[in-house]
Amino acid sequence: MFDEKGILFVLSGPSGVGKGTVRQRLFEKETHLKYSVSATTRKKRPGETEGVDYFYKTKDAFKKMIEQDELLEYAEYVNNYYGTPKEYVEEQIEKGKDVFLEIEVQGAMQVKRNFPEGVFIFLFPPSLEELKNRIVRRGTESNDLVINRLKEAKKEIDMMSEYDYVVVNDDVDKAVEKVKAIIVSEHCKRDRI
Ligand code: 5GP
Repeated sequence: MFDEKGILFVLSGPSGVGKGTVRQRLFEKETHLKYSVSATTRKKRPGETEGVDYFYKTKDAFKKMIEQDELLEYAEYVNNYYGTPKEYVEEQIEKGKDVFLEIEVQGAMQVKRNFPEGVFIFLFPPSLEELKNRIVRRGTESNDLVINRLKEAKKEIDMMSEYDYVVVNDDVDKAVEKVKAIIVSEHCKRDRI
């Protein structure tokens, strides 16, 4: 009657759309969710913590993870690698826990191929202009990187139709409520099976 496995939720969308903020607020309210911490080769930003925000890796260490098939997905994004450690996700799902990934679009599409039963949510910016303002306001990127991230964002928006749900992030609280509603809805679907 009830599906005892957990559900994999994948939140994706362009850099600067507010995925991190939506995820943090969601985790304040949905304490049952397990966040999968990604591995990355990008440098730690001020205020970030190893093992909480990311596992920071050298390029060689990251390549080794790829070779040893330790990643559920990975992508090269603006000259750095990002990837999801596979073991944690699989263990939690088997234990019946819901796992939440916050990743960019190329990676989300790989998860969709390898894990089609996942639930794919696209966080959409109110507009490209607003997206640019948000990336600039964050102030952690040089001008060139801002331009690269915006180019990437336009490509990512083209992939929106591949997702199960689209949530417009014009108001963080509303976006979080919508993601919570998606989680409830997906449980109701599976509980009926
Ligand atoms: P940032 O450098 O701003 O933390 O992240 C850059 C982009 O990489 C964001 O869109 C973020 O969601 C994405 N990202 C973070 N972790 C992963 C991951 O494990 N896999 C993939 N494919 N993308 C990730």
